[in-house]
Amino acid sequence: MSNQEQKTPQGLKEQRARRQRVNRIKTGILLFVVIWMVVCMSLNIFLLVRMDSLEDQVSILTDKMIQGTQIPAEDKKTPPSGTDGDFFPINKEETTGQDSDETSSASDEETNDQAGGENPGRKDVRACVAVEDNLREEGEPMNVYLTFDDGPSENTSDILEILRKHNVKATFFVTGKEGEEAGAWYRAIVADGHTLGMHSYSHRYSTIYESVDAFKSDFTKLHDYLMDVTGVDSKFYRFPGGSSNQVSNTDVGEFIDFLGEEGMTYYDWNVVCGDATSQIYTADELVENVMTDVVKYRNSVVLMHDAAEKDTTVEALEILLRKLEELGAQILPITEDAPVIHHSIS
Ligand SMILES: [Zn+2]
Repeated sequence: MSNQEQKTPQGLKEQRARRQRVNRIKTGILLFVVIWMVVCMSLNIFLLVRMDSLEDQVSILTDKMIQGTQIPAEDKKTPPSGTDGDFFPINKEETTGQDSDETSSASDEETNDQAGGENPGRKDVRACVAVEDNLREEGEPMNVYLTFDDGPSENTSDILEILRKHNVKATFFVTGKEGEEAGAWYRAIVADGHTLGMHSYSHRYSTIYESVDAFKSDFTKLHDYLMDVTGVDSKFYRFPGGSSNQVSNTDVGEFIDFLGEEGMTYYDWNVVCGDATSQIYTADELVENVMTDVVKYRNSVVLMHDAAEKDTTVEALEILLRKLEELGAQILPITEDAPVIHHSIS
């Protein structure tokens, strides 16, 4: 009996100690699980953000790759006299290599039926100007359509100011940028009387060119957004990478059909300044790239960029406008009456 009485408090003590140990272990496990979950979630968030920025980088690199190597087949087909057949001033090394020769002959065959400037089988698409009809004889007038892709950004404001100073209008193929500041940029483009064109909301090749549905949904998102922010029902589209891009897994013709049904006209370009290639040009070189080519055409659609990092383009614009004015070129915005410039689609 007395033995039992002595054992009980001892037993209770041990029991309490055991319970405390168990509780400590439980708390430890719980803490471990919580920390593990937090680590996993942080890692997930980090990877998502990283994936997002990598997707953006892939799009930028794809842009550089396309614009650095893309020679519209229509241009290679009828090189004007006095040139070495390398119609674009950029990346001469790449275009004189064996690969480009192969591309060139393949393109020639593929584009024969495009020579008339028609879009066979395409619905409601305005006929584009045939290359041979666009070649300029000396002394003939020169129409230059400056186009700015990938904006708006803070550089857009500087570009608008320069255009205003020279009293000329241009075309901005914009992407989807959120926020009040971006809203003001879109509205400034419209208020200054420039043409507001569309260049996809996300500008992510992997997303927009995944399927026709994906393309449509990106298109609608940007169209509605621009309508909301500026009240403009944009009628002009430029494909990221151009209509001749080789990135899309879906036939570009299907996207063209869709744009036709929407009453849109898509525009490519026949002159590049070279501000989106892997090669870095100075402002003077960008100007030179444009000046070398605009004299060859009656109508030049010049590809430029007003993205945030394109400071050299802003620097080049002032010089370019002065030179174009000296040359007596007409600088015009894209409108319903403007001649349509398309790349040939293989
Ligand atoms: Zn672009």
